[in-house]
Amino acid sequence: MRFPSKLSSVILALSAVFILLSTCAADPLSTFVIVIDPAHGGADGGTQYENKTFEKDITLAVALFLQKEINRKKGFQALLTRSGDATLPVERRIKYANSQHADMLISIHVNSGFSDQSSGFEFYVPTHQETSSKRDDLTDKMSNESIRFAHLILTEFDRILPRKGRGLREAPLMIFNGLSVPAVVAEIGFISYPADRNILLNQQFKKSIAEAVVNALITYHR
Ligand SMILES: [Zn+2]
Repeated sequence: MRFPSKLSSVILALSAVFILLSTCAADPLSTFVIVIDPAHGGADGGTQYENKTFEKDITLAVALFLQKEINRKKGFQALLTRSGDATLPVERRIKYANSQHADMLISIHVNSGFSDQSSGFEFYVPTHQETSSKRDDLTDKMSNESIRFAHLILTEFDRILPRKGRGLREAPLMIFNGLSVPAVVAEIGFISYPADRNILLNQQFKKSIAEAVVNALITYHR
């Protein structure tokens, strides 16, 4: 049977639209964007040891390595709040993550203890109380997603890095203030603890951190 020519052109046009829509469905909008924040920088050295080992340098080195490893994974894109030794106020970091409509922010820090016995890693997520002044579905979701990711990252750190896990903590940190992106602050070790200090800039340590974060991201995004 032959279609009248007008009908066949309508069918042709509809098929073209359908093909176009199917192509659009696989667009890069599904890319998971993660902003990595190497804390401190420039004039703000962060915590330090004997005025020669600075938190800002460790966080940057780890962040650069992490970005490279994440970007090798299909479907993930890692951005940095800073890629050099620049002074960058926390507000600018928050603004950047919000403006990129990131799916997650990880802020990397190095700890320092009052005693030289404190060691290991710990993670911080936004507190529910902190967002209560303008509490709504969005802030609740942000908080819950931060906690969900933090549990995954903690599990991976416990598995991959045989060190003392200090757990998950809630705190009203500055980086969470006004942030509309789920976020985790990772304190990756104590500069004041000799064994931690020795591995903080070690290549294998950076690899292990990257592996732990990438695994957590893949599970989170599944
Ligand atoms: Zn810090």
